[in-house]
Amino acid sequence: MRIGRHMPTHSKLVKAAEIAHQIGCESIQIFTSNPMGWRPTADDPASYAAFAETVRRLELDPVVIHAPYLINLASPDDVIWQKSIALLTWTMQRGAQLGATYVVFHTGSHRGSGIQAGLVRVAQGVERVLAEAPPDVYLLLENDVGAGKTLGHSFEQLGAVLAYLPQHEERLGVCLDTAHLWGAGHDISTVESTLVVIQHFDDAVGLARLKIIHLNDTQVALGSHRDIHARLGEGIIGEEGLGTLLCDPRLTTTAVLLETPIFTTENGKEDWEHDARHLARVRALLAPLEITTEARVPYTSLGGNLPGQP
Ligand SMILES: [Zn+2]
Ligand SMILES: [Zn+2]
Repeated sequence: MRIGRHMPTHSKLVKAAEIAHQIGCESIQIFTSNPMGWRPTADDPASYAAFAETVRRLELDPVVIHAPYLINLASPDDVIWQKSIALLTWTMQRGAQLGATYVVFHTGSHRGSGIQAGLVRVAQGVERVLAEAPPDVYLLLENDVGAGKTLGHSFEQLGAVLAYLPQHEERLGVCLDTAHLWGAGHDISTVESTLVVIQHFDDAVGLARLKIIHLNDTQVALGSHRDIHARLGEGIIGEEGLGTLLCDPRLTTTAVLLETPIFTTENGKEDWEHDARHLARVRALLAPLEITTEARVPYTSLGGNLPGQP
């Protein structure tokens, strides 16, 4: 399981990748344009190529692009729907230039047209996007806290969108955000409750479709439908349940990305050493899996030598 974080780029893509590597990331997520805006950024192919080259050199893999928040493929409004398709398609194309494997987007709000109508609209929008997008970039639906008329807070809704598009099984998957799971009412605070949630997801969506986990704790209540991220150790979900999710042996190829607030020093600068310690704390949560996996390897398959011996 590879670990990384969402990195602010401050318009300096290569620098963001280098810092990610320095603090211990094996994977990286970025925005490619203003996350709160409709307007794509001006093209800068040289800087995209430099970023793609840097992530390759530093073995940051996978590279994930988080699409802008305004995108709403569930919208009954045609103007918004078309703009959403155009911006998500642009983001996928930009993703290919940046060496990205995945583009993550929020499923959006049906704005009163109804859950069913909204889900169909999302599937139709995805179909349009994938028709224009580069074939080697995956599109991932991110689960939501379910505020207002937003979709994607239930596994059945995520599963329904995927089920509409069986022809795109290879290019379409899911990203689960742990703070969103909690906000939507999925209890992932204990071993037992987390195993129930994982089973529920497997039944409704399929664990093989889970490509990315956004690992965030939160301080808002279970089922509050609020989306506030906290660092591990500073929230109320806690590490028992989060660790259970990370250690599921069926998720070893799923990448884990923190979207937690970055601690800042007194003069307002990002404290990357603090964040490196936070990443190390996440890595420690994976330790039980590594021990169990090693223990399962038969002695003979190690060529007769014990691990660590020449
Ligand atoms: Zn998101
Ligand atoms: Zn997220």
